[in-house]
Amino acid sequence: MKNKILAGNWKMNNDISCARQLLTQLIPLVKESTNTVVACVPYTDLAVAVELCRGTNIKIGAQNVHWASSGAFTGEISAPMLQELGVAYVIIGHSERRTYFGETDATICMRIKKALEYNLLVIMCIGESLAQRQSNQTQQILNSQLSLGLKDISSSQAKNIIVAYEPIWAIGTGVTATTQQAQETICYIRKTLSTMFGENTAKEMYIQYGGSMNQTNAQELLSQPDIDGGLIGGASLDATKFATIANYNK
Ligand code: PEP
Repeated sequence: MKNKILAGNWKMNNDISCARQLLTQLIPLVKESTNTVVACVPYTDLAVAVELCRGTNIKIGAQNVHWASSGAFTGEISAPMLQELGVAYVIIGHSERRTYFGETDATICMRIKKALEYNLLVIMCIGESLAQRQSNQTQQILNSQLSLGLKDISSSQAKNIIVAYEPIWAIGTGVTATTQQAQETICYIRKTLSTMFGENTAKEMYIQYGGSMNQTNAQELLSQPDIDGGLIGGASLDATKFATIANYNK
């Protein structure tokens, strides 16, 4: 059995002093965790977060990265900049980026390639809308997000990519996918990855569930055979709640 990867997505929350406070609370609460614990914090918190978590078992992640190493891209942050700070993970293709900032499968693919070039571990988000689920398009949507977002990625590169299955209708809504829906869909994602990268790579790859995961429903979701972890928004802003999830133990 793999350990789990539990990543908090703070989104656009927590200034530096709040970040310090939250991480200082969290560090002792997760120190015995056998899972990989990640906090994906806003850019402005990265330096402080990396420094505070040095020598602890919390890894720090960013929430996006640009596809070029440098250049005239006002407002963007590059992979070498994140690498220089000691950032380990980066979320790419979150549905909020796709919905509000015009992120496409093609730009997601370019960002993923650049992140991997600078040894960042990628958390690639995919997921269907409610209308797509209701019209039985879930598999088709996931298939296309995976094949376009991971176009020309090799099997050895794929091992450094965590896929986060986040049904859009479950993000920030308090509505969680049922355990059965999450397991079935993630099993389908693994089959698709198996066709793309081979069975062994697909087995090794981590697939997280994300969407209103909390301290109450995490145990059941994480006990499913294909669910290798969680991407957690709201509940990651509370050290005690996030620690309960991060300390999951089968
Ligand atoms: C997310 O932002 O990736 C997420 C899953 O949010 P929440 O847990 O709040 O639904």
